[in-house]
Amino acid sequence: MAEKIPYKIYLNEDEMPKAWYNVRSDMKNKPAPLLNPGTHEPMKPEELSVVFCEELVKQELDDTTAFFPIPEEIRSFYKMYRPSPLVRAYCLEKKLGTPAKIYYKFEGNNTSGSHKLNSAIAQAYYAKKQGLKGVTTETGAGQWGTALSMACSYFDLDCKVFMVKVSYEQKPFRREVMRTYGASVTPSPSMTTEIGKKILEKHPGTTGSLGCAISEAVEVATKSEGYRYVLGSVLNQVLLHQSIIGLETKAALDKYDIKPDMIIGCAGGGSNLGGLISPFMGEKLRGEADYDIVAVEPVSCPSFTRGKFAYDFCDTGMVCPLAKMYTLGSDYIPAPNHAGGLRYHGMSSTLSQLYDDGFMRAVSVPQTEVFKAAEQFARVEGILPAPESSHAIKVAIDEALKCKETGEEKTIVFGLTGTGYFDLVAYEKFHNGEMEDYIPTDEEIAESLSKLPVM
Ligand SMILES: *Cc1c(COP(=O)(O)O)cnc(C)c1O
Repeated sequence: MAEKIPYKIYLNEDEMPKAWYNVRSDMKNKPAPLLNPGTHEPMKPEELSVVFCEELVKQELDDTTAFFPIPEEIRSFYKMYRPSPLVRAYCLEKKLGTPAKIYYKFEGNNTSGSHKLNSAIAQAYYAKKQGLKGVTTETGAGQWGTALSMACSYFDLDCKVFMVKVSYEQKPFRREVMRTYGASVTPSPSMTTEIGKKILEKHPGTTGSLGCAISEAVEVATKSEGYRYVLGSVLNQVLLHQSIIGLETKAALDKYDIKPDMIIGCAGGGSNLGGLISPFMGEKLRGEADYDIVAVEPVSCPSFTRGKFAYDFCDTGMVCPLAKMYTLGSDYIPAPNHAGGLRYHGMSSTLSQLYDDGFMRAVSVPQTEVFKAAEQFARVEGILPAPESSHAIKVAIDEALKCKETGEEKTIVFGLTGTGYFDLVAYEKFHNGEMEDYIPTDEEIAESLSKLPVM
């Protein structure tokens, strides 16, 4: 029977999803609304439109519409690199000697090297449609900035990227890819913004954080005519666009009557995981099926496993709306670990609500274990995985090894969000035995959480 399932399950063009799915439409407990940081009242569309594109504001605030048709222009862009393959990890299964069946959805088949292009192209499209000149953003590890610069060049928009300083220094080649697509790249915190200057005064020599970079990008967007700010994760609109990952996965599995037992994804701000699980979570919420859904985060930035479910600022500069989410505090600057894309202090409010309601669970893993898993995977499956993605690999391998002990033939699906060609400094540290596992102390987390806004 198993032989009938190909190594890679693709979809034909006419089987590709025609609409994004909004998981919030099936949630009884909706994610808490974004609040104005000054008044603590729910953000009105007009307030959000100062920062974000109008169409994206509508998507952000819509908790009831189940499906949003994907505009034709975006679908034709998707066709250049999608569907992404759903791969049966036969070689990994054999190597582990597990009875588990392992599948991964591979999002690294585009120049940006990750799933982030799925939302970048949508956000650039709506910015263009609104007649804007350009957009500003932040980038951590650089994948989002790369994806956005590709999307902006496709629609002929200007793109200003604030890149977390530690990544800017560790990954000079990322910057050059962005510049190839016409973006300007500034290391953050920088002296080019008011908030950047303030942060540098308070934390001289800081290696930066996504929270700082967001504050700078928002400041520039709101001060420049014809510009808006765009964000690559965390927000509802991003999870909506990323639902393409889960919809394709489900369509591919349905084609062969495969029902997964477990779905595993790494979680930074929650967009790839939110996208991957959305149609499955929808079934779970409607009581039609049950799945064990697992978020994997680094021990150095454990928002779900050690954070607090509370309203918090989305950025260090405290200019963005407040979101109710699992957070480590907007002041939390994680140790410079090598999974830059998982270094955000908070988590998507949709996933936070689902987690709090018990619809999914979370685990945290140390980075040396993650790189061991990455190497093990690369050697048998051929793909050099991104450190972020390797968090999911680590847990998929652990679960498959549990099946080996119990003899259970579980079907495990995980999200392989991207490739690690720009992360070779991290691989080098790992190979040289210079990689450390940084675990924040309870005091550090408590200190940062003590600065949550008083509601
Ligand atoms: C950005 C990124 C992530 C984490 O972001 P999410 O919004 O949590 O998905 C994971 N993997 C890769 C390769 C990334 O670029």
